[in-house]
Amino acid sequence: MTRFPAVEAFRGGDGLIRVVGHRGARGILPENTLIGFEFAMSTGAHLLEFDVVMTADVVPVITHNHRLHAPTFRDDSGNFLTDEPKVSDVTWEQLQSFDVGRVDVSSAYGRRFPDQARLDGLRVPRLVELLERVKQPRFDAANLMLEIKSDPDFAHDQAYRKTLVSRVVAEIRAAGMQERTLLHSFDWNLLAECQDQAPDFPTSFLTQLPDNDDEVGEDSSKSISPDFSGREHQIPSLVAEAGGSLWCPYVNDVTAETVADAHNLGLVVAVWTVNEPEDIDRMIDFNVDAIVSDYPGRVQGRLEARGYSWT
Ligand code: MG
Repeated sequence: MTRFPAVEAFRGGDGLIRVVGHRGARGILPENTLIGFEFAMSTGAHLLEFDVVMTADVVPVITHNHRLHAPTFRDDSGNFLTDEPKVSDVTWEQLQSFDVGRVDVSSAYGRRFPDQARLDGLRVPRLVELLERVKQPRFDAANLMLEIKSDPDFAHDQAYRKTLVSRVVAEIRAAGMQERTLLHSFDWNLLAECQDQAPDFPTSFLTQLPDNDDEVGEDSSKSISPDFSGREHQIPSLVAEAGGSLWCPYVNDVTAETVADAHNLGLVVAVWTVNEPEDIDRMIDFNVDAIVSDYPGRVQGRLEARGYSWT
């Protein structure tokens, strides 16, 4: 198996479990914003997870949903949106008129993040802005888990999917960040496209079994994931057969046995999204490689208390 530097950055070891800032540090600062990413990296959570979608003018931008997410997008009057245009229907310039510095705490989504800072004037970043930020020497230890969001509306549009991958890969290469980036997705066919176009990049395979509930108030992965019916216990082998370097299961799907299976196959296991202390402790007990969390500091606290380091 090829040893990719970015994969080794996510691999744990004896007394070592990595911490991955989910959308930066969503529990503390607005998600998928430069200030959130910089905060996470500054606290020693050098590994960042974030989500990439493409605008109408083919600009890769960092946002989670395929539509402008009403609970996190405000218009130029400061009001949270009441409708949700698609990101793929607005230009980069149009996207810049929206403020993503706060979460609407009256929404079901916002109630999940009552402690998130209330900021003004934050814009959806382009992928290239984050890449430039991470290239600064003070963030030399940073590595990126770049999730390419797969839009069900374009599931059969091969030209669109090829363009999405090629634009993302071209921007990473232009920034010289190809040795510090994982291509990560729930859409395994899109990951195959990544492997075709960019075999020098490692791929990271997300999974979520259908029997667990979706996280409240955000796009579901279920319609674009493979069907694992009857094969739930074989997922690590399926990831390895598909050429994956990482397996990224949902926190409630993983067991000590499946983590051990993945390790026997040489895979790195990074579990999402792990926010509750009892879940963090369980993942430590399972010997995962990396913990993806909205609260990277909380994970560091549990690791420290149990004698683990994260670098
Ligand atoms: Mg993501």
